[in-house]
Amino acid sequence: MQALAIDLGGSHATCAIVDERSILASEIVTTDGTIGLRPVLPEIVRAFHRLLEQTHLKASDCLGIGFSFCGLVDSRTSEIVSTNQKYDDARGLDLKTWAKSELGVRLRLENDARMALLGERYAGAGRGFDDIVMTTLGTGIGGAAMISGKLLRGKHAQAGCLGGHIPVLFGGRQCTCGAIGCAEAEASGWSLPLIAREWPGFVQSRLAQEKAVNFESLFRLAKAQDPVALALRDRCLQVWATATVGLIHAYDPEIVIFGGGVMESADAILPHIQSYVEKHAWTPWGKVKVRAAELGNSAGIFGAIPLLSEEA
Ligand SMILES: [Zn+2]
Repeated sequence: MQALAIDLGGSHATCAIVDERSILASEIVTTDGTIGLRPVLPEIVRAFHRLLEQTHLKASDCLGIGFSFCGLVDSRTSEIVSTNQKYDDARGLDLKTWAKSELGVRLRLENDARMALLGERYAGAGRGFDDIVMTTLGTGIGGAAMISGKLLRGKHAQAGCLGGHIPVLFGGRQCTCGAIGCAEAEASGWSLPLIAREWPGFVQSRLAQEKAVNFESLFRLAKAQDPVALALRDRCLQVWATATVGLIHAYDPEIVIFGGGVMESADAILPHIQSYVEKHAWTPWGKVKVRAAELGNSAGIFGAIPLLSEEA
C-alpha cells in the first residue's frame, strides 16, 4: 500500500511517496518566496510526477494524497478553515478537485498536529495505543488527541487542536489566540525571547550574548549551568508539565507524545514531565506514559496512509 503525502509548513512543502514502513521517495518544494498556496500547487504536481517516475509507480497505485496543513482545517470537507498570515489564499481552495484533475487521485486534508499524531501512531511512538495526546513544541505548541482509535475533531474542527492554548497561568501573558496565560504564551518558540528579555539578570547572562534566544540556546546554556538559562528552562518545563496534566484530565490518554525540535533535549524534559504527571494527574487506573516522538519531521508524512484509510 502506498500513498502520496504533502506536509506543508511555513517555509516549504515536503512531497513524498510512503508505504507502511518507509518513505520511498521525497522532494522539498520551497514556499519561502511566496505568501500564497496557489502558486505552489503546480510545483507540487511536478514534484509528484518526478517521484512517481523514480519509484516506477502510477498515481493510481496510491491510496490518494494525504495533505498535512499548518492551520485549522475541516477534514470532513478537506477545506482550509483558518490560516495565520501564510497561505491566506488557501481558504476556499478546492483541493479535492485539484488532486483529481491534476493527478487523478482523491485527497484528504488534515491539520499538521493531527497528522503528526496519526503518523506516530502508525509508525512511531504511538504504535499499539488507541488513546493518545500529542503535543508538538515549536514556534507555537501544536496539539492533537485520539480517543478509542479515533482522532478528536469536533463540530468546528478545533477539538484537541488547541492544547497549546490551555491556560496555565491566571493573569499571565497575552496570547496570540486572544486568551491569557496559555501554555504557548508562557513557553513556546515565539514567547521565549519576550519572556527572556524581561527576566531579571538577562542582560548579564550568556543567553543575552547568543544570536538568538531559542530552545536550542536555552537548553545548551542550561546544561552549562548558566543561571538565567537554568531558571528559564525550568519555567518552560513547569509550563509544559502543567499543561500536560490539563490535557490528561481532558482526554484520558494512555500515552502523551512530545514532538518538535526541542525534543533533542528529551533527556532534560521527559523525566520532569513524567514525575510531575505522576504526582499531579488524577489517574487512579495507573500511570500515563510520557514519550518522545520517534519520526521527527516525517511524522506528518507517515500520517497519509492512516488518514486515507480512515472510515468516514
Ligand atoms: Zn493562546
